[in-house]
Amino acid sequence: MAQLVTERPGKPEVIENRLYINGQFVPSQSGSTFDIYNPATEAHSASVYEAGPEDVDLAVAAAKAAFPAWSDLNALQRAHHLEKWANALEKCAPELAYLDAICMGKPINSDFFGSLAPTMVRVFASKALDILGDTSLNTPNFMNMTLRQPYGVCGAIIPWNGPVPTMIMKVGAALITGNTIVVKTSEKAPLSCLLAARCAQEAGLPPGVLNILSGYGRPCGEAIARHMDIRKLSFTGSTATGKLIQRMAAESNLKSVDLELGGKSPLIIWDDADLSKAVPAAAQSILANSGQVCIASSRVYVHAAIAQQFIDLLTTTMREMGKSGDPLDPSTMRGPQADAAQFERVQGYLQLAREEGVEIHLGGGREGSQGYFIEPTLLSNVPESSKLVKEEIFGPVLVVNTFTDEEEVMTRANDTEYGLYASVYTRDMSRALRAAKRFEAGSVCVNCTSPMMAFDMPFGGWKGSGQGQELSRYAMDCWTQLKSVFIAL
Ligand code: NAD
Repeated sequence: MAQLVTERPGKPEVIENRLYINGQFVPSQSGSTFDIYNPATEAHSASVYEAGPEDVDLAVAAAKAAFPAWSDLNALQRAHHLEKWANALEKCAPELAYLDAICMGKPINSDFFGSLAPTMVRVFASKALDILGDTSLNTPNFMNMTLRQPYGVCGAIIPWNGPVPTMIMKVGAALITGNTIVVKTSEKAPLSCLLAARCAQEAGLPPGVLNILSGYGRPCGEAIARHMDIRKLSFTGSTATGKLIQRMAAESNLKSVDLELGGKSPLIIWDDADLSKAVPAAAQSILANSGQVCIASSRVYVHAAIAQQFIDLLTTTMREMGKSGDPLDPSTMRGPQADAAQFERVQGYLQLAREEGVEIHLGGGREGSQGYFIEPTLLSNVPESSKLVKEEIFGPVLVVNTFTDEEEVMTRANDTEYGLYASVYTRDMSRALRAAKRFEAGSVCVNCTSPMMAFDMPFGGWKGSGQGQELSRYAMDCWTQLKSVFIAL
């Protein structure tokens, strides 16, 4: 049953904790629940029904039953459904922010991504009439064409660091192209997506078109990845889990898989860079969401000629911008790490920094004694072979190293298994464009950095950061399969 809560503005009257299957909120078949704790206070936030394989089967059956009618709708009718969902989401914005705050510590006033959710749904709705095939008259006596058709029942598995927008990037594209979908949210932050489900229910989205399950990777996520009736799966999360997903898809029905994975994104600052812009942007990139952003610029390469000046300015800026507080306080800019596990993970890297004897210009430890807060941390002169440079820390921890030569810095920037995002600051446009071409990454910023994204630009990773695209017209291709039709004249 839903739990009653009583305090704080933005707090929903009830917190929905059930699964959303076939247009209804239902307890899990097993009746088992798991607990969520507020990472700022370590207090209990909610108990949530945990989906198992039997719940996945029910959700997939509902999605399968809903598919024929949904895919047969006039595309504009599907768009109309999405627009109604967007309107309902917009009204719930304060509650959505509240629920993320008590699950994973995102400040309620943080504009990062969350308030974009209804807009994102509307952007997908606007694509309704653009899902088209091609025709060809190139073969004599034939008129040939391609059809773009939905897969049928799709799956989505998402992380916790931006639950509703991450879900909408998948659900919006899947639904407008005529698919139905089963989503598994992260066990760390399931509540806001359940409220988004409530919005879909109130907006009249037909039952079974969207199903949302709360649960763990094992067994719920695995049951989705291995399900024989799911033909398309989009996963966002770590590269390690992405590899497992790919394997499970291959071992079951070879479902089509899109992967949006981790990053260790380089940011190059040349000696002619406008530091009044580069410094706050670098600080914002690593501090937003307490560094728990896949596209965070977590490796900075600064030209040796300005390194000291840059580090001094950045230290001051990170100290100022990185002030932390209660995520439910509207004046708070930065919250804690999402949970005890994320906190321990970041602490492990800070311990490594101390053991390796790298320079610590700012932070380097826990902040306060309650909650999972980590100090904004700036490290420099870190060996390129160190895990601090190679691995995704997913915390407010920035590594700054120096360079002098273009060839050398581009090689170091690309010397990673990740390829999600990369940035360069310079006034020399030829040099900037050489970097844009040379970076091995799915998104490149020139004189800007993450979280820069645009609805009409594709988002996806190169190398170990993934495959497939989200947003833009290219996302429509990922959620449709192509068919060639040959017509003899
Ligand atoms: P994670 O890989 O631990 O979990 C992601 C999701 O996968 C969760 O829902 C989890 O329950 C599920 N899962 C875990 N094990 C599974 C299994 N064996 N089978 C099926 N599902 C399983 O990642 P996380 O900690 O939730 O998220 C952080 C990671 O996500 C970071 O690496 C971050 O860079 C990445 N991320 C990438 C993007 C992107 O768009 N590229 C966006 C956000 C986050």
